[in-house]
Amino acid sequence: MFNPSENSDISKLFSFLNQPLESAVDLSKTQLKKIVAALGGKVFDFLIGNLPESYETRFLVTKFSDFERGKMATFKAKVVSVKRGFGKIPSYLKVDLAGSLVTITFFGKLGMIYCNLYHEGDEVLVSGEVSPKSFAINLVNPEIFKFDEGWKTLLSGYIPVYKNIVGVSHLFMLRTAKMLVNLLSAHRGEWFPESLKKEFNFPGFVESLMNLHFPHLSADIDELNEFKTKWHKRIAFDQLFFFQFGSQFSAIGMRTDKNRRIKTESDLSVSVEKNMAFELTKAQKRVLGEIRSDLSSIYPMNRLLQGDVGSGKTAVMVLASLDVIAGGYKSVIMAPTEILAAQHYKTISQMVPENIKIELFLGGVTGKKKKAERLENAKKADFLIGTHALFENMEFMEDIGLIIIDEQHRFGVSQRMKLQSKSTHPDVLVVSATPIPRTLALTVYGSTEISVIDEMPPGRIPVTTRLVPAGNRVKVFDFVTEIIKNQNKKGYWVCPLVEESENEEMKSEMKHVEGVYEEFSKVLGDKAALLHGRMKGEEKRVIIERLKNGEINLLVSTIVVEVGVDVPDAVFMVIENAERFGLAQLHQLRGRVGRGKDKSFCALIAGSDISEKAFNRLDFLSKTENGFKIAEYDLKTRGPGALTGLEQSGFKNDAYFMLAVRHGELVEKARIFTKNILASGDDGYIKFCNRVFELFFAERFNRFRAS
Ligand code: ADP
Ligand code: MG
Repeated sequence: MFNPSENSDISKLFSFLNQPLESAVDLSKTQLKKIVAALGGKVFDFLIGNLPESYETRFLVTKFSDFERGKMATFKAKVVSVKRGFGKIPSYLKVDLAGSLVTITFFGKLGMIYCNLYHEGDEVLVSGEVSPKSFAINLVNPEIFKFDEGWKTLLSGYIPVYKNIVGVSHLFMLRTAKMLVNLLSAHRGEWFPESLKKEFNFPGFVESLMNLHFPHLSADIDELNEFKTKWHKRIAFDQLFFFQFGSQFSAIGMRTDKNRRIKTESDLSVSVEKNMAFELTKAQKRVLGEIRSDLSSIYPMNRLLQGDVGSGKTAVMVLASLDVIAGGYKSVIMAPTEILAAQHYKTISQMVPENIKIELFLGGVTGKKKKAERLENAKKADFLIGTHALFENMEFMEDIGLIIIDEQHRFGVSQRMKLQSKSTHPDVLVVSATPIPRTLALTVYGSTEISVIDEMPPGRIPVTTRLVPAGNRVKVFDFVTEIIKNQNKKGYWVCPLVEESENEEMKSEMKHVEGVYEEFSKVLGDKAALLHGRMKGEEKRVIIERLKNGEINLLVSTIVVEVGVDVPDAVFMVIENAERFGLAQLHQLRGRVGRGKDKSFCALIAGSDISEKAFNRLDFLSKTENGFKIAEYDLKTRGPGALTGLEQSGFKNDAYFMLAVRHGELVEKARIFTKNILASGDDGYIKFCNRVFELFFAERFNRFRAS
């Protein structure tokens, strides 16, 4: 049996990775301190937490004919002459490379320093870009050293490019990396069994890590820069595996009988389903089944429910809640905004029988007495619908069986964790309309189970989306005015700003709701209304109500309408400066229309300064209605940081996490490997994996999960 914990190679590797950076690297303490402050204090933090962001090639040049203009070259040469510059006049060093003269030009003070430092006859090492255009071979402001074999090796071949740390030069980073990699090369430890490495063709841990920092020359530079080498794959797998292992292992540890027996498919829920105006889609039924099996299990549910805008998540949420209520426990739905909470309250009140006590719980209540009253009402309710305000009050409600967090991307990860550690072990369902690919969800959330509604209710008419150049804005304006005046149509006009930007540059470019509202009220009078995030909750609710009941036809709004607002007969959505929004956001906005029986359209008005890349993104959006495809596109073109919902995860801009995301296809394998280990009964290896997790990965994991 593979038991690395008893092996001295692994103990040596552990103590090396755990060693304080400052004791392992014999270099200037002031710069090291800055590295430690930025990355963390252990060797592990440098070698794994600080993977190169890219690689460059520097060719080792030994004769003049090897030089290539525009390429990075490193060579040994002898100083022939030195001409010190002055003011704006550059300094020149002429050096001899195997009988040929090369000119090196330095601008500024640096050149004067070098001219004092180097003299005729000195052997130097030069490394830098060969001027791409000049006729003679020339290097401008390269790096130059008194010749040293160490520098020669360090600066030839593939050179890692690290994230910039303020106050630390890239040469210092290189030297630190080189020292650590030299030390690492003496190690042989490995935490995966040979069989796994064979199965996936993974190289060893030490070999992989060394090659991530200083790749072997046999590697392909494009593969390196796409993080696709076998070494990258292997190290990505480490992260994916330990995240899966850590979260599954701790989930088992925290696994407590929730002391609740929920009988699903209760009479209550079944009769409400029968009375609905429609039959559930296959996908809704399947997902409801998955949730129900969690509800009736003795372990708390930790599930992510994903479904595109309009896929019918509300019905699923309500039916699951009713099972819990029938079992004698409270169900809670938390929405990200008051508008949405109020809307849910209204819709759901109409769906459930009168004897179910349903309460709306919002913030903004002041005064002890009123607060106590609100809490008393909440305690008596079967079904609670509210906002963030529910958070601080939940601990007083001991009978909560199910917590549903709708449109999760506005909630932080740590808030969710807090819910799960509540003493009553409520079942937690997080609902998201911003679909992220399954692999990414698993990479971010670890052991969450995922349910997907991958089918739309029948009879939906697709929304026509058009990308409109800034110059044609007036056409959209006239068209919207026309259909409001003559056909009494309803819809939204969204702008990125509330009021005119103070920023001079953006002033003429960015549309603001106040300005656009003024334009419209001139032609539409009080058929147009203004809505933005600075208004009070009550004010906003009233305006949306007025749109619903037809008192107004046009809402000129900021992004506040993004999530979940339901006005079924709204038929147009116009978005100004559409390039300012993420694709997922735009897709959400578009989801506000096309909810009824009338044909709807969405116009994306591009700013006049739109880039080609942004144009292509919008063009893609106008051609697809599938939220998952849109999320994947965003992920591919802008990286995971661009996806709504990950802003709060803390993963953004973390090189190691990005590496794992690029190899997301391995996450399922990591999950299976984890499950197999946990089921194997091999206590020695389970303990060992947990030790590696605790030593090296737990802190990262917690940092992300809690941020
Ligand atoms: P979302 O998933 O975006 O929250 P909703 O739950 O608000 O979507 O549902 C969108 C609309 O589709 C609602 O008007 C709802 O009544 C309707 N709907 C939901 N499920 C079905 C179904 N199976 N058949 C027909 N209409 C449905
Ligand atoms: Mg919804």
